[in-house]
Amino acid sequence: MNTQKLWALIDRDAARFEDISDAVWGFAETCFEEHRSTKLQREFMEQEGFRITSPVCGMDTAFIAEYGSGAPVIAFLGENDALPAQSQCADVAERKPLVPGGNGHACGHNLLGTGSMEAACAVKKYMETEGIPGTIRYYACPAEEGGGGKVFLAKGGAFEGVDAAVTWHPGSTNEISNGGIACVTASFHFTGKASHASGHPWLGRSALDAVELMNTGVQYLREHMLPSSRIHYAITNAGGDAPNVVQHEAEVLYVVRCKENSDLAELFERVCKIAEGAALMTGTTFDGPEIVSAYANRIPCDPMDDLMIHYMREMLPISYTQAELDYAARFVPFGWQPEAESPIDRGFSDRKDVEIMGSTDLADVSWQIPLGECNTACCGIGTSGHTWMFTAQGKSSVAHKGMHSAAKVVAAAALELLTVPETLEKAKQDHRSRLAGKGYRSLMPDDKMPKGGQ
Ligand SMILES: [Zn+2]
Repeated sequence: MNTQKLWALIDRDAARFEDISDAVWGFAETCFEEHRSTKLQREFMEQEGFRITSPVCGMDTAFIAEYGSGAPVIAFLGENDALPAQSQCADVAERKPLVPGGNGHACGHNLLGTGSMEAACAVKKYMETEGIPGTIRYYACPAEEGGGGKVFLAKGGAFEGVDAAVTWHPGSTNEISNGGIACVTASFHFTGKASHASGHPWLGRSALDAVELMNTGVQYLREHMLPSSRIHYAITNAGGDAPNVVQHEAEVLYVVRCKENSDLAELFERVCKIAEGAALMTGTTFDGPEIVSAYANRIPCDPMDDLMIHYMREMLPISYTQAELDYAARFVPFGWQPEAESPIDRGFSDRKDVEIMGSTDLADVSWQIPLGECNTACCGIGTSGHTWMFTAQGKSSVAHKGMHSAAKVVAAAALELLTVPETLEKAKQDHRSRLAGKGYRSLMPDDKMPKGGQ
């Protein structure tokens, strides 16, 4: 394969994908609501000659765009959802929402989905001109932020027949990524009995007491769980703001995380027992947790990491103009690395063992097929995802360069998987050996439907 020839295809069409990414940035649609964003992408891919399948696994904002035929089948994964309350005027280095209280692309998924699509389009053109057999698929995966679209795709069999998948994520550094711990998010709702808190307190049964006792119980649990596990919570319904009313309803949202999916099931069970105990102590009722989302732990794949590292090295460095460096420098003071030498990351970390304590629905895909992922700098160094600073930079030329650069790495990795059978076989072997004896099990209940379907 000729990487330069492949990358020239990306350079040639770059402006078209910048327009799509900027449009998706403007739509700023959240969790399972990515209708305009995916319509734009779907129509584009159809015009490019891809066969479209939509909806997928019951999700309207999921689609698969496929080209080619036969083996191998290589997938490009994209996400398109924004985050609530992260609206921000583009390029403004102070908090200034474009729409007060509105959504914003604070995780750069406008770049992520479009960049993966850009890679798929370049590989398609290359396959056409060189007569390369095989199949490529772009997956528009909904609701990465909280909805777990890929979990439904994985559980629903959308990756059956796929040999390997490649993807990327916008960030503030150039690196590869292979981590993510298992996680379950569940809400615990208690029902008590209302009464006047001073007049007839003996008649009341406080649901808020149950929430508080549950939180206290979990506090004691923390000493007796694996040090690498995490439990956090937010009280989502305190039962109102009147202290003179015994709260008859209250709710707390928990996130429980473990490095391994199997440990997570056990720890989550212990949290549920504490909720039952809190209900028993307070004379309230608790009808079991409502699982909002559940992600598995990520299965790394060494050969896929090596593939990403190889093409990241070949792609880097990204060149910037002085105006771009000055632009990024305006955002650096707000980030976590204000003392950095360059306002945009110019290095590359090829570490494969970076511990990631966050969770992602990519993990559920990684239980089914070998997965490779890279991150590229799309903003000033130290800009944290899920902040207005990231939204602000999402349409800049720095962001666009990050997207095209990632598209090059992802496209080259995919093309190698398509054309070099040994590379794909190594990845599949590594994947098989890591999974030996382990089966994919999602903590997401089978009857749980994607939002909109329940
Ligand atoms: Zn993200």
